Amino acid sequence: MFEKILIANRGEIAVRVIRACKEMGVQTVVVYSTADAGSYHVQIADEAWCIGGPRPADSYLNMDAIVTVAVESGATAVHPGYGFLSESSEFARKCRECGLVFIGPSPEVIDRMGDKDEARRTAKAAGVPIVEGTGLLGDADEAEREAKRIGFPLLIKARAGGGGRGIRKVEARDKVRGAFQEASSEAASAFGDGGCYMERFISPAHHVEVQVLGDAHGNVVSLGERECSVQRRNQKLLEESPSPSITPAVRDHMAKAARDLARSVGYVGLGTIEYLYSDANETFAFMEMNTRLQVEHPITEYVTGVDLVKWQMRVAAGNELAFAQDDIHVQGHAIECRLNAETPDFLPSCGTVETLHIPGGPWVRFDTALYQGVTIPPYYDSMLGKLIVYAPTREECVRKARSALGEFVVEGVSDNSELQLDILSNDEFVSGMYHTNLMEHLYE
Ligand code: ADP
Ligand code: ADP
Ligand code: MG
Repeated sequence: MFEKILIANRGEIAVRVIRACKEMGVQTVVVYSTADAGSYHVQIADEAWCIGGPRPADSYLNMDAIVTVAVESGATAVHPGYGFLSESSEFARKCRECGLVFIGPSPEVIDRMGDKDEARRTAKAAGVPIVEGTGLLGDADEAEREAKRIGFPLLIKARAGGGGRGIRKVEARDKVRGAFQEASSEAASAFGDGGCYMERFISPAHHVEVQVLGDAHGNVVSLGERECSVQRRNQKLLEESPSPSITPAVRDHMAKAARDLARSVGYVGLGTIEYLYSDANETFAFMEMNTRLQVEHPITEYVTGVDLVKWQMRVAAGNELAFAQDDIHVQGHAIECRLNAETPDFLPSCGTVETLHIPGGPWVRFDTALYQGVTIPPYYDSMLGKLIVYAPTREECVRKARSALGEFVVEGVSDNSELQLDILSNDEFVSGMYHTNLMEHLYE
C-alpha cells in the first residue's frame, strides 16, 4: 500500500478519501484554493498546500501545481475523487510521467471510455446493447439527415459530456439545427470539446447502473446495481440499491454485460456502467461508463459491505481482489439523498452555516465536509452532503430516509431537504416503478 497519497479534490469526497486513508494507515496530503482555507478537508489532512485562487482553473484543475505538490510532498499516488480531474487522461498521463500512481484506470482506458461516442462502439464490440444512435456528427446538415432516420424525440449529446451537461432534447425537425449548435457550444465551453452524437430518446426509461471493480491480475467483479432515475435536468438527486424496477434475469444480464465490457478493455480500478432500462419490454442499453468513483458509491457499500474507496486504492497499488464474484452478496436496501445548497427555485445558495444538526442512529451515514461556522463559497458544486441510510427492506429504508431527513437541520443556507421529503412521500416513488420523468410528475 502507498505510504502517502495526495487527494486532488475538495468537499465531502476529499473527506471520504482522507477517512479511508487514515483507516489504512496512509498519510494524506491535500491541495486547496484560497477560498477553501477554512474547509474541513484542509483541517483533517496530515498536510495541506494552497495552490491558487478560487476558480477551479487556478487550483483544483491546475494539473502542474497538483503534480508538483505531490512530488514535493513525497506522495506516491494521487486520488482524484469525482468531478474536476477524475476523468482527465491528460492528468493521469502527467501523474505517470512524474512517477505517481493515478488512482483510476490507465490514461488509455480513460480515453477509450471517456469519449462517449467511442465508448458506444467499444460496448457494441463487447456484445453490450447500445441505444440506437449515430457516431460523431460532422455538422448541422448531417445532424438533420440523421435525425430524420432516427425519429423524434431524440437527444443530441456531447461526447465529452458529464454531470448532465451538453445534452439537448429535440422534439421536431426544425429544432435540430439550433439544438446541435447549442449542445456543441455548451460542450466546447464546459469540456473544451464540442463533438456531439445523437441518440433516440428512450421514454419511459430507468437509469440503472452497475458498479464494477477490476484488479491488475485480470479479475473483474460487479457489485450490484443502483437505480438513479430520480433526476432533475439529467442530474441525479436520489439513488437506491438494489434497483426496484428490474427483474432478477435482467439484473444478471446487466451485471454480466458490465463485466464483459470491463474485461474487454482490461479495466483496472473502480468504474460504473450506466444503462437505460425499458421495463415495458425488459430491455436495456448501454449509455456511458464513468471511469471513477461515483457520488452515489455509499449505497453500494451498504448493500455489499465492501469499502469501495479502500479497494480502489488497493487495486491501484497492485493488490489482487480478496473476493470473487460468488463472495459478493447484495443484502438489504440503501438510499442516498443528495442535499444541495439551493433555494426552492433551484438557485444556488451560499453563505455561512450558523446551525447544523446531522442525523444519526444505526445505519445512517452522512458524508459531508460541513461544520458549524463554515462558509460555503460560490465557486464550486452546490452539494452540501449526502444522507445514506440502510435497512433490511425497501419499505423500511424509505421510512428511515424520511425520519433521518426530518432530523437534518442547516441554517444560514437554503437546502433541498423538503424536496427530498416530497420525493420520499410520492406514491410513484414509493411504488418503486418510477422513471426518469418522476420529477416532472412531482411538479404537476
Ligand atoms: P455521478 O455520475 O457520480 O453521479 P455526477 O454526474 O452527478 O456524478 O457528477 C459528479 C460530480 O462531478 C458533479 O459534481 C458534477 O458537477 C461533476 N462533473 C461530472 N462530470 C464532470 C466533468 N466532465 N467535468 C467537470 N465536472 C464534472
Ligand atoms: P452524463 O455524462 O451527463 O451523465 P448521460 O449520458 O449519463 O450523461 O445521460 C444523463 C441522463 O440523461 C441519464 O441518466 C438519462 O436520464 C438521460 N438520458 C441520456 N441518454 C438518454 C436517452 N437516449 N434517452 C433517454 N434519456 C437519456
Ligand atoms: Mg451519466
